[in-house]
Amino acid sequence: SDVRENLTYEGFGRAVRELAQTIADDGYEPDIVLSIARGGVFVAGALAYALDCKNIHLVNVEFYTGVGTTMEMPVMLAPVPNAIDFSNKKVLIADDVADTGKTLKLVHDFCLDHVAEVRSAVIYEKSHSLVKCEYVWKRTDDWINFPWSVEKPVVRRSGQVLDA
Ligand code: 5GP
Repeated sequence: SDVRENLTYEGFGRAVRELAQTIADDGYEPDIVLSIARGGVFVAGALAYALDCKNIHLVNVEFYTGVGTTMEMPVMLAPVPNAIDFSNKKVLIADDVADTGKTLKLVHDFCLDHVAEVRSAVIYEKSHSLVKCEYVWKRTDDWINFPWSVEKPVVRRSGQVLDA
């Protein structure tokens, strides 16, 4: 449909504060907030401050269109986080939205192998997401305009090579 969920920077500020309060009220005290770049970086930074957690890690995930296939799968790009940093830690994965949920599932499954406990927090979760996050600010099935990506970049760049 043409319906859009428009999140402003001001709205994001309120949303992420409420999300943090929900996590705190639930008694989850993460040792590490793991952000999924790029949209999750905003969420992770705000949650880490609100939850008084000083450790933020980052994982780069991009959708990759495989050669000879039309199916889009997310891939983790280098540098992949060091598993040793995660051992016996309580991790909170932070992202902007769980849509198909494939991105979050990739990172969640990576964490499961290494950490003491892992939970996920998102601003938005769509009903068809294959991952059900522990902490969700709002559920919608509309396309979301995020304040950091609603405007075009100030400069156009082409031919950037991703670190795979
Ligand atoms: P996934 O489908 O793996 O859950 O979502 C992957 C990524 O696609 C999200 O982290 C986000 O960057 C982007 N994405 C998915 N749905 C939306 C949406 O409704 N609006 C925007 N702006 N990005 C989205």
